[in-house]
Amino acid sequence: MESYTAIVVGGGPSGLECARELSKLGHKVLVLERSKIPGEPNFSTGGTPLETINEYNIPLSVTKDYFNKISLITNIEKAVFTNDFPAGYVLDFREFKKHLADEIRKGHGWTVYGSDITNVKFERGKIKSLSFVVDGHQKEVSAKYFIDATAKEGALVSKLGLRNHKNHKTTTGIEYIVKVKLDDFYKNNLCIFLGGKYLPDGYAWVFPFGTDTYKIGVIVYDGKESDFQKPEGGYLDSFLQSISKNGFEILEKHGGTLILTNGFKRNVWGNIISVGDNAGMCNPLFAEGIRHALFSGRLAARIIDKTERGNLEINHLLNYDAQLNKYKGSSWGIGRFFADLLYHTKNDKLKDLLTKRVSKLSCNDVIDTGFEYNFSSLLKLLK
Ligand SMILES: Cc1cc2nc3c(=O)[nH]c(=O)nc-3n(C[C@H](O)[C@H](O)[C@H](O)COP(=O)(O)OP(=O)(O)OC[C@H]3O[C@@H](n4cnc5c(N)ncnc54)[C@H](O)[C@@H]3O)c2cc1C
Repeated sequence: MESYTAIVVGGGPSGLECARELSKLGHKVLVLERSKIPGEPNFSTGGTPLETINEYNIPLSVTKDYFNKISLITNIEKAVFTNDFPAGYVLDFREFKKHLADEIRKGHGWTVYGSDITNVKFERGKIKSLSFVVDGHQKEVSAKYFIDATAKEGALVSKLGLRNHKNHKTTTGIEYIVKVKLDDFYKNNLCIFLGGKYLPDGYAWVFPFGTDTYKIGVIVYDGKESDFQKPEGGYLDSFLQSISKNGFEILEKHGGTLILTNGFKRNVWGNIISVGDNAGMCNPLFAEGIRHALFSGRLAARIIDKTERGNLEINHLLNYDAQLNKYKGSSWGIGRFFADLLYHTKNDKLKDLLTKRVSKLSCNDVIDTGFEYNFSSLLKLLK
């Protein structure tokens, strides 16, 4: 049986970053990804602040556009915030994940696509080995550490009964990549739409994605992907029609479901660590999860590395929970409060009023609120 320092289940940003860091630090690591095609599933809009690019050394070649404007648009109000320089980028999610996987290969790492886990040997609170099927062949692999990076699926933690994701509410987003000529307002502009004119709750968006190309999507609380595929077209089609009366070409359609949580106190059990969306790392305010998935993946890798190098007890992994909770502070909870106020309501007047108030903020304040989760300027304004 092949043996590794760590086996990561799930090849999204969190799992790939964890493996990339472990591989870079000289550890032998294996990623098991269910999707057969590298870069898939390509479900995320990929809007991310500058910090992601700089901190995680992401080449601009895996981005499609930058944004230096952020707009909040309701039934009757429009707040536009402009920055002098790029405030962030829109990743090509597929190419971004392929890039991370390429980097894993440069060290001691491998990614197996199309792998289906068939059995987990769990003894005295620790995983001993995993069995999986790939290309019709059954394999068994062992490791000292196991990472659950499978988001809402919880291929390790839920299946082993360590945590139950079924108790949590979800939010479902779906988007088109559209080739369409829109007016200059939409160029390099992250546009968020709120209000019944666009959809009953949740929010809609138009993000720039290269020349005359946009990511246009909607996200609805407790929605199911089937809600968006109704014969009459559903929310996304009517939103798209409201944005462009002229012709457009839909290049791709994709979506996903996120667990709505402020995070979990516990993300470590024996030799198992939960990362990314599986650990509730998607911030509720604007469903920004990529940067935090990378953070948690890298943190898990560094704690494993320290445990290995220092020959430390397995309990050292518990530092992961402490550091993750410190990283989030109270901002996930406050973000959730504002998200509920803005999206989980059909009260359009409130959305108009909030947008009118918020329009008085500077672009820096908006970046601070939206990406740093520093709510002081917003709270001052609402007093
Ligand atoms: C519609 C939508 C738009 C979004 N837009 C943004 C955005 O603009 N900016 C942003 O920062 N965040 C955005 N997010 C959130 C962001 O995409 C997630 O937070 C991020 O992808 C989480 O990374 P992850 O690695 O934890 O999980 P995921 O990216 O979900 O990766 C999990 C991986 O595990 C694999 N997997 C699942 N089960 C198994 C199994 N049993 N065996 C093997 N593999 C398995 C899956 O195939 C997948 O590759 C968006 C989310 C949605 C749904």
